[in-house]
Amino acid sequence: MLEPELLQHITKLTQTDLSQAQIHPISGGDINAAYRLRTPQHQWFIKINRAALADMFAAEAQGLQELAVQNCIRVPAVIAQGQFGSQAFLVLEFIGLQGLRGESSSRMGQQLAQLHRIPQPYFGWYRDNTIGSTPQSNQRHHDWVSFWQQQRLGKQLQIAADNGYHGQLQKLGERLIIAVPLFFSDYTPQPSLLHGDLWGGNASADTDGQPVIYDPACYYGDRETDLAMTELFGGFNADFYAAYNAVYALDTGYKTRKTLYNLYHILNHLNLFGTGYLQQAQQMINQLLSELG
Ligand code: ADP
Repeated sequence: MLEPELLQHITKLTQTDLSQAQIHPISGGDINAAYRLRTPQHQWFIKINRAALADMFAAEAQGLQELAVQNCIRVPAVIAQGQFGSQAFLVLEFIGLQGLRGESSSRMGQQLAQLHRIPQPYFGWYRDNTIGSTPQSNQRHHDWVSFWQQQRLGKQLQIAADNGYHGQLQKLGERLIIAVPLFFSDYTPQPSLLHGDLWGGNASADTDGQPVIYDPACYYGDRETDLAMTELFGGFNADFYAAYNAVYALDTGYKTRKTLYNLYHILNHLNLFGTGYLQQAQQMINQLLSELG
């Protein structure tokens, strides 16, 4: 349960009377404990973790705020964020959520394409964040290929080596990193604000059917990476892709690069959840290398 001292701290921080608040735990998150808080005036969604992860919540709050400013897709408003004693907390607007179906799928496709069409100034972001609980480096690059080589594939392969995954994975990984420019011979990505962790569990509709995204790992990068991730674990239907393409058509080379982009998440899963993802990662690299002939 939410500790009374923490609740008092949030009361002070938000200058809101929470003495009558009803608080219920919510299940479903991967990483954090979550609660729904209700007063007659407010409905909040509160995430709690160890104090050491306060910066992870700060980055999440900043991602949500930047997505909100673009005004394309609904995100929960950030109410408060910080740490108190041994705990880190993030307080968001609570949004009643339902599955992405019918009209809301097409709307999500349209709105994501609109977000991606807004030009951003460079690849990377103004701060680092996390993907799952893995550190994600967003060092600025003006060249997408070097960004993907160094800040994405290179970083996950290094973490994998630190976790003891040497040998074949590293050999294949090194070959692939050298080959990355070949996937961009006739395609020049432009920086877009990305959700960054857009699997089905991080996208829903509100009770009016308006799309909502949350739990982002934002940075400026190739929009194809967001699309690739929607395909990795399912949850997005044909209406979503049709609507996306109608607003901002994907390049034909996306079909090949999607594996290059999803490899990042599979390597991250290897690093977070273990050996179960090793074979899949190696298969993806082999497939990419074989497509280069
Ligand atoms: P975690 O970071 O622990 O994975 P999430 O942010 O993904 O947690 O939230 C876990 C679940 O809680 C989500 O899958 C979603 O169903 C629900 N949820 C997330 N944000 C909100 C919100 N602002 N309002 C209501 N429900 C939410």
